[in-house]
Amino acid sequence: MAQANISLAKETKKILQDNGIRLNKNLGQNYLIDDFKRKKIIKYADLTKNDTVLEIGPGIGTLTIKLAEEARKVIAIEQDTAIFNILSERLENEGIDNVELINGDAVKVDFPPFNKIVSNLPYQISSPITFKFLNHDFDLAVLMYQKEFAERMNGKVGTKEYSRLSAMLYFKAKVDFLTHVSKESFIPSPKVDSAVVKLTPKKDGTSAEDFKIYSKVVKALFQHRNKKARNALIDSRNQIGFKDKKELKSLIIDLEDNNEELKELLLKRTITLSPEEIMKIALLLKNDVK
Ligand code: SAH
Repeated sequence: MAQANISLAKETKKILQDNGIRLNKNLGQNYLIDDFKRKKIIKYADLTKNDTVLEIGPGIGTLTIKLAEEARKVIAIEQDTAIFNILSERLENEGIDNVELINGDAVKVDFPPFNKIVSNLPYQISSPITFKFLNHDFDLAVLMYQKEFAERMNGKVGTKEYSRLSAMLYFKAKVDFLTHVSKESFIPSPKVDSAVVKLTPKKDGTSAEDFKIYSKVVKALFQHRNKKARNALIDSRNQIGFKDKKELKSLIIDLEDNNEELKELLLKRTITLSPEEIMKIALLLKNDVK
């Protein structure tokens, strides 16, 4: 294992050096040099020759080349043109012909059809790219994130990791922690450790319309994670389409008078409300939230 580690690190440094590349941390360029973790990541994806894998930020192809060996096809989207050119040449030299390389910003380009995702993500786009993934239908995703982000994805109600992100993902995907990856597994080594997680989309039937209302209520609530829900909503009323404080207050009083459960829920603090409870609040406000 140590030997393999050294060789992936050496290979990576040589490719970068030969091409005069200095990695840019602002683009989230932290390249994996740990062959043991690479093997694990590939294994978690459980690939067959029926799979089409989407990879965001392939870099010089550390994961891409292994993915291409096991999958039918890989679609890899790389934003940095110099890196894109290196990978393109590398694939050609190695005679790999089942990778579709796209030079662009993965947040903006349309994804061609795929059924799995495997990526060591550029961390600065963690949030938008994850929500973009979840607008597509797929079997599973094996993704590397900053450890803190991964923990917030899976935050349990009442803990410090419970966040807007946890509540938003709850109805969209099952999040399973797979493995930690230390800073030393990358060049240049980032400031924080990383974690690999598996996302499995939930096909639970929350309508797009209900989810939109839920998203707004979640955003409003989590701006005040330690306040009582009632006060959090009133303080963040602009997020749910209210300008006037009195107007929202009197609406809430009306709704509470007719619904004992809503009254109780709104007395709880944001971080103690489960996603199901937040959904209940959202649906009770549905006709009034804009
Ligand atoms: N997967 C490789 C590289 C990870 S670093 C490895 O594990 O070694 C992340 C890569 O994403 C970098 O190559 C960076 O240039 C690229 N990148 C950054 N922002 C991007 C974006 N918005 N869209 C596509 N690629 C991006």
